[in-house]
Amino acid sequence: MKEALAARVRYYREMGIYDFYRRDVGLVNVDVSSEAMGEQPDSFALHPSEKRDDMARKTVAAPVASDVTLVVAKAEKDVADPVAALKLIREDIGDCKRCKLSQQGRKQIVFGVGDPRAELMFVGEAPGADEDQQGEPFVGRAGQLLNNMIKAMGIAREQVYIANVVKCRPPSNRTPERDECDTCSPFLMRQIEVVQPKVIVALGAVAAKNLLAVQSSLGDLRGRWFEYRGRKLAVTYHPAFLLRDPRQKAEAWKDLQMMMKELGLKAPAKSEASTT
Ligand code: URA
Repeated sequence: MKEALAARVRYYREMGIYDFYRRDVGLVNVDVSSEAMGEQPDSFALHPSEKRDDMARKTVAAPVASDVTLVVAKAEKDVADPVAALKLIREDIGDCKRCKLSQQGRKQIVFGVGDPRAELMFVGEAPGADEDQQGEPFVGRAGQLLNNMIKAMGIAREQVYIANVVKCRPPSNRTPERDECDTCSPFLMRQIEVVQPKVIVALGAVAAKNLLAVQSSLGDLRGRWFEYRGRKLAVTYHPAFLLRDPRQKAEAWKDLQMMMKELGLKAPAKSEASTT
């Protein structure tokens, strides 16, 4: 364990990360009842055949957790301009060969996209084929659904920041493995430090587990607030999962409304929320 920890600290140092902090995750109560949440917009609505009457009232308490996180990377720590700071992180990644994904058919590194001063940041798992091709996160089918989710929140994709835990496409879109996440996630943490979003949304279990360092099920993690280094973090279903099981969109919508409330966002009028 000691050797493994020393090796990890050395690894972070090589990446320009020097400081480690211990942080707490707070307790928050959230009412995610359908009465509290309001109606789901058309742009992100269920097809009538997918509807189910299971919007039961539940008030949940977030677990109290703590974990150890790094961050404060040398390269960008004195750079005030987030565009320049993100550029430095991208330069640090370089033509990355730090993990085996570099040898397993990735075309390019998919860094992140969006407003470098965004109040809302979405974190996914890893690029898929379309993202690998285009060099931008969430541009395939899951990306289109994410765009609709963002639109349903009353904002545009350009107003948020989007990144993944892992920056290279895993072969056959498999789930990124532990060592790949551990190797790549420090770059995500640095991106979060630079963008300083008010709210972070972990899309799916991989993002949630890596950001929160917990092993709970997604069902246990959704519908509540966590604190991530002084910022609010919430977990919702990954859009790719929602494509496979659209009935869960109603639950995801509750999550999005919780985030909207925090950010003072209002859903657009029905006519503005087109179904694309
Ligand atoms: N799924 C992800 O988690 N990230 C992407 O960028 C695309 C699909």
